[in-house]
Amino acid sequence: MSLREILIIPDPLLRRTAQPVPEITDSIRKLGEDMLETMYDAPGIGLAATQIGVMKRVFVMDCAPEGEEPAPMVIVNPELTWVSEETETSEEGCLSIPEVYEEVTRPERVRMRWLGLDGETHEQEFGARWAVCIQHEMDHLDGKLFIDYLGPVKRRMITSKMKKLKKERSRV
Ligand SMILES: [Zn+2]
Repeated sequence: MSLREILIIPDPLLRRTAQPVPEITDSIRKLGEDMLETMYDAPGIGLAATQIGVMKRVFVMDCAPEGEEPAPMVIVNPELTWVSEETETSEEGCLSIPEVYEEVTRPERVRMRWLGLDGETHEQEFGARWAVCIQHEMDHLDGKLFIDYLGPVKRRMITSKMKKLKKERSRV
């Protein structure tokens, strides 16, 4: 396994649309392992392939509460087959937008269909933090970021803050 570099906004790769994965291969399994390792190291609860510059429809997540058994998941070619009418507002953060947390409103529950690393199609309903994480990571696969749900002024402020952060980090 190896750690991958997580891209920080603004980066044009974070705005690209990822392509479906035609089949589960060793390189997809390795990508999933690397992404989980990178996510746990960050630490974070979700990471999309586009965040490490890989334009494939893959994301990883583990929303198990702290102190509970880890529940790592590698999701390939996700699709939402249902979303609830009820919405929920919760604070989100993103490994590509460090130290920024803002409230976003999304459907409270979703049903997702995906391809597992076992090569099988899975479908399951998710709520709570899992539902938020799934929608956030699926947005990444379409080049969308959680700051897109905020107003333009706030979005510009956050983007210039990230430009400064990247400059500082590159000096180290
Ligand atoms: Zn994110």
